[in-house]
Amino acid sequence: MKELVRKTFGSLVFIMALCLTFSVFGNVNAYALDTLRKGNSGDQVLYLQHTLAKCNVGFTEAEIDGSFGGKTEVALKRFQMGCKLPPSGVVDSDTWTQLSGKTDVKAYSLARDGNTRVSANFKVGEFACSDGSDFILISNNLLGVLENIRSRFSRPVKINSGYRTTAHNARLGAVPNSQHRYGTAADIVVDGVSGKDLYEYADKNIPEIVRGGLGAYYQPGHKDDPNFRSNMIHVDVRSTRARWTDGIR
Ligand SMILES: [Zn+2]
Repeated sequence: MKELVRKTFGSLVFIMALCLTFSVFGNVNAYALDTLRKGNSGDQVLYLQHTLAKCNVGFTEAEIDGSFGGKTEVALKRFQMGCKLPPSGVVDSDTWTQLSGKTDVKAYSLARDGNTRVSANFKVGEFACSDGSDFILISNNLLGVLENIRSRFSRPVKINSGYRTTAHNARLGAVPNSQHRYGTAADIVVDGVSGKDLYEYADKNIPEIVRGGLGAYYQPGHKDDPNFRSNMIHVDVRSTRARWTDGIR
């Protein structure tokens, strides 16, 4: 009897540990996303459009504008039909569930998930927009890139800018179509590692960056002058290659 209890308890603990593992690296949309329909606009519409652009439903990244108009509605209805959902053209919770399965970008709440780990070395709160917005987007592919850098240099990676709301992105004077608005970009520094070394490592050794976005920062007025190169770099996991050494992106 004692043995049975011990065994049962042992497997219970094992199952509980398993559940904990899955919930700790919560690949779930913890954020209660709004019901969206034609006429809506804002950061959740941007997330919707960024996801639709990955779904082969006739909506491209070039059409992402944060406004839920006719094109978004047509693409959404196509998506819903493809998932055997009623083609209502309205993003309800069932539609959000299907959409979130099509993207590496997940939505989180700062209040609820701020201290939740999203990968071995990063917490949700580290990606929060500095305007204090509760809504946060984080790409799992981006997390892979950051863990890669963490492990290569064996030092903490500090995120100076992760997710940005459209409003905050504009206040910073960053390019309007910044990848930070999709949760796919981070501006990072690693203590004791130069911007040049970080850039060169990411440029050549991280597949998501080889085919994605990478930017160097220089002090204003000193573009491309190695004496004024910042230790911060920008990495993003967009689907096309991009390189630059000027401006905030
Ligand atoms: Zn950036």
